[in-house]
Amino acid sequence: MSPTIKQVRALVVRGGGGDYHDQGSGHWIDDHIASPMSRYPEYRQSRQSFGINVLGTLVVEIEASDGTVGFAVTTGGEPAAYIVEKHLARFLEGRDPKNYELIWDQMYFATQYYGRKGLVLNAISGVDLALWDLLGKIRGEPVYHLLGGQVRSEQPFYATGSRPDLAKELGFIGGKLPLHHGPAEGEAGLEQNLAELAEMRSRVGDDFWLMLDCWMSLDLNYAIRLAQQAQKYRLKWIEEALSPDDYWGYAELKKAVPVGLLVTTGEHEATRWGFRMLLEMECCDIIQPDVGWCGGLTELLKISALAESRGVFGRSARLGSVQLPFRNNPPLQPILGIPDDGTQGRPGGADVYSAAARRARTGRRPAQAAGSPGLRRPPQPRLRNASSPYPLGRAPTAIRVARGRPLAGK
Ligand SMILES: [Mg+2]
Repeated sequence: MSPTIKQVRALVVRGGGGDYHDQGSGHWIDDHIASPMSRYPEYRQSRQSFGINVLGTLVVEIEASDGTVGFAVTTGGEPAAYIVEKHLARFLEGRDPKNYELIWDQMYFATQYYGRKGLVLNAISGVDLALWDLLGKIRGEPVYHLLGGQVRSEQPFYATGSRPDLAKELGFIGGKLPLHHGPAEGEAGLEQNLAELAEMRSRVGDDFWLMLDCWMSLDLNYAIRLAQQAQKYRLKWIEEALSPDDYWGYAELKKAVPVGLLVTTGEHEATRWGFRMLLEMECCDIIQPDVGWCGGLTELLKISALAESRGVFGRSARLGSVQLPFRNNPPLQPILGIPDDGTQGRPGGADVYSAAARRARTGRRPAQAAGSPGLRRPPQPRLRNASSPYPLGRAPTAIRVARGRPLAGK
């Protein structure tokens, strides 16, 4: 008899992990990077100042009746853990893990009245990815065997970070720079953005890819001017220039950029319906679904099919070793977490991912490597609300949101 799902567990980790913005001070990822909040001077220098790392990492574990444990990592922290345990788990426990399409459908439509994108889709993605991990383990095969098998023997990677020149030395095919200055910093900011790109082009030579990640920070006019002026530095693509809700702006931007310069977006988009908007409105040349946010692997396969049918390139973003290829599209994969000194190239969240793997194998707290975020219980609960309903620290290695506990005051 094939195993059924015995229990779904949600855990939360602080520091690095699946939430790659949750870094210590001084990391390039928090160094005056342009954001939608850059219009407010007090939130311009640091994205952590407006709470970019407030949620932290969500770890989902799914245990089958034969003791096999599948797991996955994404973002969403305590609120996502709450959704997983209080709402989503009911659609898995006691069920056959092979029925992942039915499970996904019920998770999505049961949360539709408060979900559809964002945090809820982070949670659904985490559950879905843990389910695929469980299925692969039960069948004794890597997940790509369940997706149609091998389609290529090599996987090129580009690196995201402040030092594409070091990424080139490490063997990456390109480097993606964070944009540092938004429209509120005026012409001087625009000049600085272009000067940084020019400097990096002079360091890496003509053939190395350079891209700019604008993290939803620009308006249409600024994005067009940036793209036009960046062409002389052979900018490969301009990423997520506008608000993810501004489909009309992206359609305009794609028409306005110089020939050969690509428009990319979709990192903060979710589900087949969101990507259908991007594709049918011809918003971009490359869609960038994040497998940890777009709805998980089950949904990514549908998004991938939509993109392939329209000839739009795809790439699934990051999250530890969950690098899942679009099967027939050009295999572009980003690696995050390249430190400023370029001494190592490893996926963002690699530490927590391997810690979670050890935990899934042994059921025990993993030994902590020095400096590793690992799965751990924070020394103090990080929730600021002292009357929080969440019973923190129940599990020895991480925060666990327990089901069935009454809300505080009720
Ligand atoms: Mg991005």
